[in-house]
Amino acid sequence: MINPLNIPLNIQKSETSKIKNVDFENLTFGRTFTDHMFVCDFIDGKWQQPKIMPYQALSFEPSARVFHYGQAVFEGMKAYKDEAGKVWLFRPEDNHSRINKSSARLAMPEFPKEYFFKGLETLLQMDADWIQPGLGNSLYIRPFVIATEPAISASPANSYRFMIICSPAKAYYSGKVRVLFAEKYSRSANGGVGFAKAAGNYAAQFYPTTLAQEKGYQQIIWTDANTHEFLEEAGTMNIFFRINDTLVTAPTSDRILDGITRRSIIQLAEDNGIKVDVKRVPVTEIKEAARNGSLKEIFGAGTAAVVSPISAFEHGNEVFEIPESENSFANMFKKQLEEIQNNLAEDKHGWRHEVVL
Ligand SMILES: *Cc1c(COP(=O)(O)O)cnc(C)c1O
Repeated sequence: MINPLNIPLNIQKSETSKIKNVDFENLTFGRTFTDHMFVCDFIDGKWQQPKIMPYQALSFEPSARVFHYGQAVFEGMKAYKDEAGKVWLFRPEDNHSRINKSSARLAMPEFPKEYFFKGLETLLQMDADWIQPGLGNSLYIRPFVIATEPAISASPANSYRFMIICSPAKAYYSGKVRVLFAEKYSRSANGGVGFAKAAGNYAAQFYPTTLAQEKGYQQIIWTDANTHEFLEEAGTMNIFFRINDTLVTAPTSDRILDGITRRSIIQLAEDNGIKVDVKRVPVTEIKEAARNGSLKEIFGAGTAAVVSPISAFEHGNEVFEIPESENSFANMFKKQLEEIQNNLAEDKHGWRHEVVL
């Protein structure tokens, strides 16, 4: 076992900070990056000495395999700062184990847990000023792995780069989201890579999502690829339906990403005495519930927006508006999750992880 305290981490500090040029009140998601980044190369069958260096452009040969075969996986997580200035992560071990599951599916090497936490925590210590306190503010953290070997033969690469970059984020309010239930295109297939946070899963969604946007819908809720009869997830968020006072969501599978927000909401629902039905969700059942008034809410759940209420959906050229619900589950789960994440509420399940500065 590697002792995290003994991992030699090569640190190159940036000479100046870009922070004074940043308007934290007007951030566009994912465009501003902190002063430093974490980098670790996999060469000759092993992970090399990890480094932290100033955030900067990289140079790769055009033959690097990531550009040709899409061997790339990523994670999305956030750091929060409480009023006392303490920094917190939310269930970060789950992100670590998930990036390794994603990597394994794409024939990429797993990244050691000790390196992950040493790199992440040191990076957050160095860029701690970039984490703004206040509910809704956070530092979005993007770990990712790419195949770097310069060789365009179609087989797994022999060299990889693991990196972490960080971007300050404001409360992300998407407004009410209108969605299209997928009838033609698919995000993932049985035996495929839908459960992995593979970069290519996103690329494959852009075209159908653009078509949906032209029709006035912000997102697509994907259905099973075989029949398009069962609702699965939104492609960056898992999806919950509230039928009367029961919460319904699809079971995870090799087609559905096992979201940490989803898992947390299922637990919070149990804590709040709300019945959760994890089952396949027929489109016909949701349409019928919308018609008879038992469909009270639909919302997405994911790290970026936490909880994202959906106000309408279209399927089979029929549009269904979901009326505003008083005492909405979406708002309640969002508040409860954010309070745990920001150290404002009791952490019954041990989800918070303090980054000692
Ligand atoms: C990242 C992601 C989610 C949300 O997962 P969280 O762990 O809650 O952030 C849901 N679906 C897909 C396809 C994703 O990539």
